[in-house]
Amino acid sequence: MLDRSELIRYNRQLVIPELGEEGQRKLKRSHIVIAGIGGLGCASATYLTAAGIGRITIVDFDTVELSDLNRQILYWEEDIGEKKVAVAQRKLSKLNPAVEIIPIFAKITEENVLSLIDEAQVVVDGLDNLATRLVINSACVKRKIPYVYGGVSRLRGMLTTIIPGKTPCLACVYPEASKRGGGLGVLGVVPALIANLQALEAMKLVIGYSPSLAGRLLLFSGDDARFRVYDIKRNENCQVCSQTPRGKRPKNGGKDGRRNREAVYT
Ligand SMILES: [Zn+2]
Repeated sequence: MLDRSELIRYNRQLVIPELGEEGQRKLKRSHIVIAGIGGLGCASATYLTAAGIGRITIVDFDTVELSDLNRQILYWEEDIGEKKVAVAQRKLSKLNPAVEIIPIFAKITEENVLSLIDEAQVVVDGLDNLATRLVINSACVKRKIPYVYGGVSRLRGMLTTIIPGKTPCLACVYPEASKRGGGLGVLGVVPALIANLQALEAMKLVIGYSPSLAGRLLLFSGDDARFRVYDIKRNENCQVCSQTPRGKRPKNGGKDGRRNREAVYT
């Protein structure tokens, strides 16, 4: 049940027919894991907290630096040097004390990833590197947990929703992490934009309203102010989500995996 204060707090979204009180109760019962609380994670965490997700786990192993402040909007000058998860928990809890924010100061690895995501209803990507994204992707496929991927670079961003068993996975698009480093930069509004679309996808998954980007890749270009959406296909030889026997998989990961460039910043 929603109490009187919740009916007031969420009034502007309760009146949306696609959500309603039943949808709000689903948000309240849900648990979302945000992997990485940088530029993407700060924005998605803020809006998911404001919307009334019941429990949000934030995972990151970084501390706040001055160069984060152009885009990581939960952190201010006074927070420099502090653990990001601690600052984020403090501020998100002030925004909406009813939301349980669980901070985990840890680097996501193949060894700990399953324990980090195991209780999640949805995992939202806030990472800054493809190698860790592929670790999350494999774990989500293994545990059948939806994963909302997002990435940004310069004035561009992209996202897709991966539903294990139904859509292609991230390894179908990127068979392996690029060795190429970052350095292209990012304007802060771009992760904010992509992260809010990720938050929308996550909330739609929670309330059972079909996610619009399942199996589709949205690309945003700030250069020409265009959104483009492409269908993505499962790589039949994908080492993560394909049913092909392991011995028959080619080393190059198949032909469908080279469509998009790696996004390197959060
Ligand atoms: Zn795959």
